[in-house]
Amino acid sequence: MCHYSILGLRSRVMHSNTVSKVFLWWDSEKRDLPWRISRDPWAILVSEFMLQQTQASRVVPKYNLFLERFPNPSLCANSNPGEVIELWSGLGYNRRAINLYRAAKTITEKHQGIVPDELSILLDLPGIGDYTARAILAFSYEQDVAVVDVNVKRVLSRLEGKTLSMKETQSTADQNLPKGEGWRWNQAMIEIGATICTARKTQCGNCPLKTTCAWSKDQTAPDPAISPKRKKLDTFEGSDRQGRGKLINALRNEPVMEKDVPQILGWTNDLDRCKRVLRKLEKDGLVVITDSRKISLPS
Ligand code: SF4
Repeated sequence: MCHYSILGLRSRVMHSNTVSKVFLWWDSEKRDLPWRISRDPWAILVSEFMLQQTQASRVVPKYNLFLERFPNPSLCANSNPGEVIELWSGLGYNRRAINLYRAAKTITEKHQGIVPDELSILLDLPGIGDYTARAILAFSYEQDVAVVDVNVKRVLSRLEGKTLSMKETQSTADQNLPKGEGWRWNQAMIEIGATICTARKTQCGNCPLKTTCAWSKDQTAPDPAISPKRKKLDTFEGSDRQGRGKLINALRNEPVMEKDVPQILGWTNDLDRCKRVLRKLEKDGLVVITDSRKISLPS
């Protein structure tokens, strides 16, 4: 196996045998997910918005419903944000719904209804960061760009046997991308991270990367996928995010009066917090509040 230096670190280039093993594994083990049979850039964009922070199994029915209603960006742009939020029900993180609506509007108004195929232009769209932009390029336009999400970062850190920063992970992923195989390679790496090299459990015996993986050789060492600097994740229960979700769910049924918000959120003893959450939802464009203090989804 040859070695090279990236960012001052020694790293390993994937041997062609390992690449073949990864593709063999992918061909036999991949999950059938609807966005994997599509190359439609709008469908891929929708799937990637939904997959940010939501499990694939929960995304599948919502993805199908969404594309039935909005098969292209123009139809989505010509609806209203409230309808997009309605369709988002069950996916959580409702701000993604607003960003998706805004992205559809920008694509329609500035790009003739065609999802851009350049990284810098994609990055200018609302709600699209480096991961999503690269995923659209790789999974719809089949460009050879490496896609790095939390799954890939975990796999590459374990493979290298050291905690990689995002920059180091991207660089390692770029160097390892087999030419002309961007679509299949990225899908396979994400799939390995999502199914057999998960945060909680590894199935190294079934992994096509086993022979080259540093951490699999000595799992008594600290898991390099866990950064020592990582902050403890906030719990959902009792969080502002839970409160935001509760109010949006109530609004999916009907508008509510502002005075009823503390009751809906279950925070009758903390009116300041209710106000803060409400103002943030309004600022994010997820709710509108009339002069008579009636709150509804935007239309
Ligand atoms: S061999 Fe084990 S630790 Fe290494 S990438 Fe595969 S599943 Fe993860």
